[in-house]
Amino acid sequence: MTEKQTQELLDWYDANKRDLPWRHEPDAYHVWLSEIMLQQTRVEAVKGYYARFLAAFPTVADLAEADDERLLKAWEGLGYYSRVRNLKKAAQVIMHEHDGIIPASPEQLLKLPGIGLYTAGAIASIVYNLPVPAVDGNVLRLLARLQADHSDIALDQTKREFAARLLRVIPQDRPGDFNQALIELGACVCRPNGVPLCGICPLQENCIARLHSLTAELPVKSAKKPRKIAHRQLLILRFEDKLALRKRPSSGLLAGLWELPEAFVIPSELILFEEHAGTAVHIFTHIEWHMMVRKITLREELRGECLVWITQEELERDYALPSAFADFRKMMF
Ligand code: SF4
Repeated sequence: MTEKQTQELLDWYDANKRDLPWRHEPDAYHVWLSEIMLQQTRVEAVKGYYARFLAAFPTVADLAEADDERLLKAWEGLGYYSRVRNLKKAAQVIMHEHDGIIPASPEQLLKLPGIGLYTAGAIASIVYNLPVPAVDGNVLRLLARLQADHSDIALDQTKREFAARLLRVIPQDRPGDFNQALIELGACVCRPNGVPLCGICPLQENCIARLHSLTAELPVKSAKKPRKIAHRQLLILRFEDKLALRKRPSSGLLAGLWELPEAFVIPSELILFEEHAGTAVHIFTHIEWHMMVRKITLREELRGECLVWITQEELERDYALPSAFADFRKMMF
Protein backbone atom coordinates (compact mmCIF):
# COMPACT_ATOMS: atom_id res chain seq x y z
CA MET A 1 0.00 0.00 0.00
CA THR A 2 1.45 3.38 -0.98
CA GLU A 3 1.52 6.46 1.21
CA LYS A 4 -1.17 8.00 -1.01
CA GLN A 5 -3.44 4.99 -0.58
CA THR A 6 -2.89 5.01 3.18
CA GLN A 7 -3.92 8.65 3.29
CA GLU A 8 -7.00 7.95 1.16
CA LEU A 9 -7.93 5.10 3.49
CA LEU A 10 -7.54 7.31 6.58
CA ASP A 11 -9.52 10.14 4.95
CA TRP A 12 -12.30 7.69 4.15
CA TYR A 13 -12.25 6.44 7.74
CA ASP A 14 -12.40 9.96 9.17
CA ALA A 15 -15.45 10.70 7.07
CA ASN A 16 -17.27 7.36 7.37
CA LYS A 17 -16.41 5.63 10.63
CA ARG A 18 -19.37 4.35 12.60
CA ASP A 19 -20.25 6.00 15.86
CA LEU A 20 -19.59 3.09 18.25
CA PRO A 21 -19.74 3.44 22.05
CA TRP A 22 -16.23 2.04 22.63
CA ARG A 23 -14.83 4.68 20.29
CA HIS A 24 -16.06 7.47 22.57
CA GLU A 25 -13.51 6.78 25.29
CA PRO A 26 -10.93 4.40 23.86
CA ASP A 27 -9.28 3.37 27.12
CA ALA A 28 -7.66 -0.05 27.31
CA TYR A 29 -10.45 -1.76 29.26
CA HIS A 30 -13.15 -0.49 26.90
CA VAL A 31 -11.27 -1.46 23.76
CA TRP A 32 -10.33 -4.87 25.16
CA LEU A 33 -13.91 -5.63 26.25
CA SER A 34 -15.41 -4.51 22.93
CA GLU A 35 -12.88 -6.51 20.90
CA ILE A 36 -13.61 -9.68 22.89
CA MET A 37 -17.37 -9.18 22.52
CA LEU A 38 -17.03 -8.51 18.79
CA GLN A 39 -15.07 -11.71 18.14
CA GLN A 40 -18.15 -13.80 17.41
CA THR A 41 -20.96 -11.27 17.59
CA ARG A 42 -22.35 -8.54 15.31
CA VAL A 43 -21.70 -4.90 16.17
CA GLU A 44 -25.39 -4.09 16.59
CA ALA A 45 -25.88 -6.96 19.05
CA VAL A 46 -22.75 -6.04 21.02
CA LYS A 47 -23.77 -2.42 21.75
CA GLY A 48 -26.40 -3.30 24.37
CA TYR A 49 -24.27 -5.98 26.01
CA TYR A 50 -21.30 -3.64 26.15
CA ALA A 51 -23.24 -0.95 28.01
CA ARG A 52 -24.80 -3.42 30.47
CA PHE A 53 -21.50 -5.21 31.12
CA LEU A 54 -19.67 -1.96 31.82
CA ALA A 55 -22.44 -0.84 34.16
CA ALA A 56 -22.07 -4.13 36.09
CA PHE A 57 -18.26 -4.26 35.99
CA PRO A 58 -17.01 -0.71 35.41
CA THR A 59 -13.29 -1.37 35.95
CA VAL A 60 -10.72 -4.14 35.54
CA ALA A 61 -10.67 -4.45 39.35
CA ASP A 62 -14.44 -5.09 39.41
CA LEU A 63 -14.07 -7.69 36.68
CA ALA A 64 -11.26 -9.46 38.52
CA GLU A 65 -13.45 -9.83 41.60
CA ALA A 66 -16.68 -10.64 39.77
CA ASP A 67 -18.92 -13.38 41.08
CA ASP A 68 -19.03 -16.14 38.43
CA GLU A 69 -22.83 -16.44 38.31
CA ARG A 70 -23.21 -12.68 37.91
CA LEU A 71 -20.57 -12.67 35.23
CA LEU A 72 -22.25 -15.42 33.22
CA LYS A 73 -25.61 -13.69 33.62
CA ALA A 74 -24.13 -10.49 32.16
CA TRP A 75 -22.91 -12.52 29.18
CA GLU A 76 -26.15 -14.48 28.79
CA GLY A 77 -27.12 -14.75 25.12
CA LEU A 78 -23.76 -13.61 23.74
CA GLY A 79 -22.50 -17.19 23.47
CA TYR A 80 -18.91 -18.46 23.44
CA TYR A 81 -18.79 -18.16 27.21
CA SER A 82 -15.09 -19.03 27.43
CA ARG A 83 -14.60 -15.43 26.31
CA VAL A 84 -16.01 -14.03 29.55
CA ARG A 85 -14.21 -16.59 31.72
CA ASN A 86 -10.95 -15.58 30.07
CA LEU A 87 -11.78 -11.90 30.56
CA LYS A 88 -12.01 -12.48 34.30
CA LYS A 89 -8.84 -14.59 34.41
CA ALA A 90 -6.96 -11.94 32.44
CA ALA A 91 -8.32 -9.20 34.73
CA GLN A 92 -6.93 -11.11 37.72
CA VAL A 93 -3.50 -11.37 36.07
CA ILE A 94 -3.63 -7.63 35.26
CA MET A 95 -4.43 -6.82 38.91
CA HIS A 96 -1.76 -9.12 40.35
CA GLU A 97 1.06 -8.78 37.85
CA HIS A 98 0.56 -5.39 36.18
CA ASP A 99 -0.68 -3.22 39.07
CA GLY A 100 -4.13 -3.04 37.49
CA ILE A 101 -2.84 -1.49 34.24
CA ILE A 102 -3.53 -3.31 30.99
CA PRO A 103 -0.10 -3.74 29.40
CA ALA A 104 0.79 -1.97 26.16
CA SER A 105 3.27 -4.41 24.65
CA PRO A 106 1.83 -7.06 22.33
CA GLU A 107 4.16 -9.65 23.91
CA GLN A 108 2.69 -9.06 27.37
CA LEU A 109 -0.85 -8.82 26.05
CA LEU A 110 -0.44 -12.18 24.32
CA LYS A 111 0.32 -13.80 27.67
CA LEU A 112 -3.13 -12.86 28.99
CA PRO A 113 -5.87 -15.52 28.74
CA GLY A 114 -8.14 -15.04 25.72
CA ILE A 115 -5.92 -12.51 23.95
CA GLY A 116 -4.59 -13.60 20.56
CA LEU A 117 -2.57 -11.79 17.91
CA TYR A 118 -5.52 -9.79 16.59
CA THR A 119 -6.73 -8.51 19.98
CA ALA A 120 -3.18 -7.76 21.14
CA GLY A 121 -2.62 -5.74 17.96
CA ALA A 122 -5.93 -3.91 18.36
CA ILE A 123 -5.25 -2.88 21.98
CA ALA A 124 -1.60 -1.96 21.35
CA SER A 125 -2.42 0.18 18.31
CA ILE A 126 -5.79 1.72 19.22
CA VAL A 127 -5.06 2.46 22.87
CA TYR A 128 -1.29 2.82 23.04
CA ASN A 129 -0.60 4.03 19.49
CA LEU A 130 1.99 1.33 18.80
CA PRO A 131 2.55 0.47 15.11
CA VAL A 132 1.33 -3.13 15.30
CA PRO A 133 -1.11 -4.69 12.80
CA ALA A 134 -4.49 -6.11 13.83
CA VAL A 135 -5.60 -8.66 11.27
CA ASP A 136 -9.13 -9.98 11.66
CA GLY A 137 -11.41 -11.64 9.11
CA ASN A 138 -12.39 -8.28 7.62
CA VAL A 139 -8.79 -7.32 7.01
CA LEU A 140 -7.94 -10.74 5.55
CA ARG A 141 -10.81 -10.49 3.06
CA LEU A 142 -9.94 -6.92 2.10
CA LEU A 143 -6.22 -7.63 1.57
CA ALA A 144 -6.85 -10.87 -0.32
CA ARG A 145 -9.01 -8.93 -2.80
CA LEU A 146 -6.86 -5.85 -2.94
CA GLN A 147 -3.79 -7.87 -3.88
CA ALA A 148 -5.64 -10.75 -5.61
CA ASP A 149 -3.91 -13.11 -3.20
CA HIS A 150 -5.24 -16.67 -3.43
CA SER A 151 -3.71 -17.84 -0.13
CA ASP A 152 -6.11 -19.69 2.16
CA ILE A 153 -7.18 -17.10 4.74
CA ALA A 154 -8.20 -19.86 7.19
CA LEU A 155 -4.51 -20.68 7.70
CA ASP A 156 -2.47 -19.07 10.47
CA GLN A 157 0.42 -18.82 8.05
CA THR A 158 -1.65 -16.53 5.79
CA LYS A 159 -2.62 -14.37 8.77
CA ARG A 160 1.03 -14.02 9.75
CA GLU A 161 2.05 -13.19 6.17
CA PHE A 162 -0.65 -10.51 5.81
CA ALA A 163 0.34 -9.05 9.20
CA ALA A 164 3.98 -8.90 8.08
CA ARG A 165 2.96 -6.98 4.94
CA LEU A 166 0.95 -4.49 7.00
CA LEU A 167 3.83 -4.02 9.42
CA ARG A 168 5.83 -2.55 6.54
CA VAL A 169 3.21 0.09 5.67
CA ILE A 170 1.44 0.90 8.94
CA PRO A 171 1.73 4.67 9.56
CA GLN A 172 3.66 5.56 12.71
CA ASP A 173 1.46 8.52 13.52
CA ARG A 174 -1.98 6.82 13.28
CA PRO A 175 -1.54 3.06 13.65
CA GLY A 176 -4.80 2.56 15.56
CA ASP A 177 -6.85 4.50 13.04
CA PHE A 178 -5.14 2.67 10.18
CA ASN A 179 -6.08 -0.72 11.66
CA GLN A 180 -9.61 0.41 12.40
CA ALA A 181 -9.94 1.85 8.89
CA LEU A 182 -9.01 -1.50 7.34
CA ILE A 183 -11.43 -3.35 9.63
CA GLU A 184 -14.20 -0.83 8.96
CA LEU A 185 -13.67 -0.95 5.21
CA GLY A 186 -13.73 -4.75 5.29
CA ALA A 187 -16.87 -4.82 7.42
CA CYS A 188 -18.90 -2.15 5.61
CA VAL A 189 -17.64 -1.96 2.00
CA CYS A 190 -15.60 -5.06 1.13
CA ARG A 191 -18.35 -6.92 2.93
CA PRO A 192 -18.42 -10.46 4.35
CA ASN A 193 -21.82 -11.18 2.81
CA GLY A 194 -23.06 -9.88 -0.50
CA VAL A 195 -21.09 -8.27 -3.29
CA PRO A 196 -18.43 -5.75 -2.31
CA LEU A 197 -19.41 -2.09 -2.78
CA CYS A 198 -16.44 -1.29 -5.02
CA GLY A 199 -18.06 1.89 -6.35
CA ILE A 200 -17.64 3.62 -2.97
CA CYS A 201 -14.34 2.00 -1.99
CA PRO A 202 -11.43 4.41 -1.48
CA LEU A 203 -8.98 1.74 -2.69
CA GLN A 204 -10.84 0.79 -5.87
CA GLU A 205 -8.30 2.19 -8.33
CA ASN A 206 -5.60 -0.16 -7.14
CA CYS A 207 -7.67 -3.19 -6.29
CA ILE A 208 -6.52 -6.11 -8.44
CA ALA A 209 -9.59 -8.26 -7.68
CA ARG A 210 -11.87 -5.48 -8.92
CA LEU A 211 -9.76 -4.76 -11.99
CA HIS A 212 -9.70 -8.46 -12.98
CA SER A 213 -13.26 -9.32 -11.88
CA LEU A 214 -12.03 -11.70 -9.18
CA THR A 215 -14.08 -10.39 -6.27
CA ALA A 216 -16.48 -13.34 -6.32
CA GLU A 217 -13.72 -15.93 -6.00
CA LEU A 218 -11.68 -14.11 -3.37
CA PRO A 219 -10.86 -14.61 -0.60
CA VAL A 220 -10.03 -18.31 -0.68
CA LYS A 221 -11.12 -19.99 2.53
CA SER A 222 -10.89 -23.74 3.11
CA ALA A 223 -14.05 -25.46 4.29
CA LYS A 224 -14.39 -26.34 7.95
CA LYS A 225 -14.86 -29.92 9.10
CA PRO A 226 -18.53 -30.93 9.22
CA ARG A 227 -20.11 -30.45 12.64
CA LYS A 228 -21.18 -33.38 14.82
CA ILE A 229 -24.89 -33.73 15.52
CA ALA A 230 -26.17 -34.43 19.04
CA HIS A 231 -29.84 -35.40 19.45
CA ARG A 232 -31.11 -34.17 22.81
CA GLN A 233 -34.41 -34.97 24.49
CA LEU A 234 -35.08 -32.29 27.09
CA LEU A 235 -37.74 -31.41 29.62
CA ILE A 236 -39.47 -28.24 30.67
CA LEU A 237 -40.38 -29.44 34.15
CA ARG A 238 -42.85 -27.34 36.08
CA PHE A 239 -44.23 -27.53 39.60
CA GLU A 240 -46.57 -24.73 40.69
CA ASP A 241 -44.75 -21.47 39.89
CA LYS A 242 -41.33 -23.10 39.56
CA LEU A 243 -39.18 -24.45 36.76
CA ALA A 244 -36.44 -27.09 37.08
CA LEU A 245 -32.99 -26.33 35.71
CA ARG A 246 -29.74 -28.23 35.83
CA LYS A 247 -26.21 -26.90 35.91
CA ARG A 248 -23.87 -27.96 33.12
CA PRO A 249 -20.47 -29.45 33.98
CA SER A 250 -17.71 -27.04 34.95
CA SER A 251 -15.70 -27.69 31.80
CA GLY A 252 -16.47 -28.08 28.12
CA LEU A 253 -19.28 -26.55 26.06
CA LEU A 254 -21.34 -23.93 27.96
CA ALA A 255 -19.46 -24.84 31.13
CA GLY A 256 -21.18 -23.88 34.36
CA LEU A 257 -24.27 -22.47 32.65
CA TRP A 258 -27.82 -23.62 33.29
CA GLU A 259 -29.93 -25.76 31.01
CA LEU A 260 -33.14 -27.72 30.68
CA PRO A 261 -32.73 -31.19 32.19
CA GLU A 262 -32.26 -34.21 29.98
CA ALA A 263 -35.35 -36.43 29.74
CA PHE A 264 -35.60 -39.13 32.42
CA VAL A 265 -38.29 -41.52 33.58
CA ILE A 266 -40.93 -39.87 35.76
CA PRO A 267 -43.56 -42.06 37.49
CA SER A 268 -46.87 -41.39 35.77
CA GLU A 269 -48.70 -40.77 39.07
CA LEU A 270 -46.53 -37.66 39.55
CA ILE A 271 -47.49 -36.18 36.20
CA LEU A 272 -50.37 -33.74 36.13
CA PHE A 273 -50.05 -32.71 32.50
CA GLU A 274 -47.69 -33.47 29.61
CA GLU A 275 -47.32 -31.94 26.15
CA HIS A 276 -44.88 -31.68 23.26
CA ALA A 277 -43.16 -28.30 23.58
CA GLY A 278 -41.36 -28.27 20.25
CA THR A 279 -38.13 -28.95 18.45
CA ALA A 280 -35.18 -26.69 17.70
CA VAL A 281 -31.70 -26.83 16.24
CA HIS A 282 -28.86 -24.84 17.73
CA ILE A 283 -25.56 -24.58 15.92
CA PHE A 284 -22.28 -24.25 17.78
CA THR A 285 -18.87 -24.09 16.14
CA HIS A 286 -18.19 -27.83 16.22
CA ILE A 287 -21.51 -29.39 17.10
CA GLU A 288 -25.23 -29.04 16.40
CA TRP A 289 -27.86 -29.75 19.01
CA HIS A 290 -31.07 -31.15 17.59
CA MET A 291 -33.47 -30.74 20.49
CA MET A 292 -36.85 -32.25 21.17
CA VAL A 293 -38.56 -30.84 24.23
CA ARG A 294 -41.52 -32.05 26.30
CA LYS A 295 -43.24 -29.95 28.90
CA ILE A 296 -44.35 -31.79 32.03
CA THR A 297 -46.31 -30.26 34.88
CA LEU A 298 -45.85 -32.22 38.11
CA ARG A 299 -48.11 -32.86 41.07
CA GLU A 300 -45.16 -32.50 43.44
CA GLU A 301 -41.63 -31.18 43.35
CA LEU A 302 -39.07 -33.78 42.32
CA ARG A 303 -35.80 -34.03 44.19
CA GLY A 304 -32.58 -35.48 42.80
CA GLU A 305 -31.38 -35.44 39.17
CA CYS A 306 -29.30 -32.40 40.24
CA LEU A 307 -32.31 -30.16 39.71
CA VAL A 308 -32.80 -26.68 41.11
CA TRP A 309 -36.31 -25.25 41.24
CA ILE A 310 -36.59 -21.56 40.46
CA THR A 311 -39.23 -18.91 39.85
CA GLN A 312 -39.44 -16.77 36.73
CA GLU A 313 -38.07 -13.81 38.66
CA GLU A 314 -35.05 -15.83 39.80
CA LEU A 315 -34.42 -17.05 36.26
CA GLU A 316 -34.42 -13.53 34.90
CA ARG A 317 -32.27 -12.14 37.69
CA ASP A 318 -29.74 -14.83 38.57
CA TYR A 319 -29.55 -17.74 36.15
CA ALA A 320 -27.62 -17.65 32.87
CA LEU A 321 -29.52 -19.71 30.34
CA PRO A 322 -27.75 -20.06 26.96
CA SER A 323 -29.50 -18.82 23.82
CA ALA A 324 -29.65 -22.45 22.64
CA PHE A 325 -32.88 -22.60 24.69
CA ALA A 326 -34.31 -19.30 23.48
CA ASP A 327 -37.03 -20.97 21.38
CA PHE A 328 -38.45 -22.57 24.51
CA ARG A 329 -38.22 -19.59 26.83
CA LYS A 330 -41.83 -18.53 26.33
CA MET A 331 -43.03 -21.99 27.28
CA MET A 332 -41.06 -22.13 30.52
CA PHE A 333 -43.47 -19.93 32.47
FE1 SF4 B 1 -13.00 -4.72 -1.87
FE2 SF4 B 1 -14.01 -3.69 -4.10
FE3 SF4 B 1 -12.55 -2.19 -2.48
FE4 SF4 B 1 -11.43 -4.10 -3.90
S1 SF4 B 1 -12.43 -2.26 -4.68
S2 SF4 B 1 -11.04 -3.66 -1.75
S3 SF4 B 1 -13.01 -5.67 -3.88
S4 SF4 B 1 -14.55 -3.11 -2.01
